[in-house]
Amino acid sequence: MMGLHTSLLDLSSAMKPDNYAYPVTTRCNRITRLKRLRSLSSDHTAWVPEHFIGGHPALDLSNAVHDRRAPSPDNELFKSARDVGTWLLAAGLADERGAGAVAEIRDRHFLNGVREIRELSYKVFDAIASDVEIPSQPLGLLFSRAARGLEAQPVGWNSARLDLTSNQWRDSTLVTAFLAHLSIEAFFTLPRTRLHACPRCGWLFIDTSRGGKRRWCNMRICGNREKISRHRGHMGT
Ligand SMILES: [Zn+2]
Repeated sequence: MMGLHTSLLDLSSAMKPDNYAYPVTTRCNRITRLKRLRSLSSDHTAWVPEHFIGGHPALDLSNAVHDRRAPSPDNELFKSARDVGTWLLAAGLADERGAGAVAEIRDRHFLNGVREIRELSYKVFDAIASDVEIPSQPLGLLFSRAARGLEAQPVGWNSARLDLTSNQWRDSTLVTAFLAHLSIEAFFTLPRTRLHACPRCGWLFIDTSRGGKRRWCNMRICGNREKISRHRGHMGT
């Protein structure tokens, strides 16, 4: 318990997440680490700013895997309820008490429920980024998951987002509904022509650059890797 609480506090002071209200600015200038794709411990994911490059939390949720294009055996970033709690805190969506409550959820279906929302969101937003027909089934399921639990108790709202009390963050159904609402909000509000997928790792992001020419999730990670592999190709290795 003590360890969890301390590490949540550490994360909170280290991350200082920006407000996610659109439009957002990218954080390239704040990137100091290139180890985005690696967890610091095998048990839990250590969220760093490079995990939050989507420009909207629903896109960051969709990106909560190591790699979309070439998944590794260790592709999963939500390995435990604690990872979901620390993600919500790092994304600025829950305070420490809320994140701590999520981390303590013991419902064995919770983690799969969160991963399901992530995958449904990815299917919808990847289709938009790829300029193909938006698949109706994942969108329908997001609406369905967003509705769950709301009829059972009064819930607060912060604009289009659920505003959960500390007690409600313990409720796995409401946390899942909260995440589904994020994706629905993004579905109706994000500028679709600016939604892109990184050609290397498949992570999704909103291009807020003035010229609209952003290509990579992160120039210093995927952009440089592409350059290196092209260079190797030229060298015949
Ligand atoms: Zn990438």
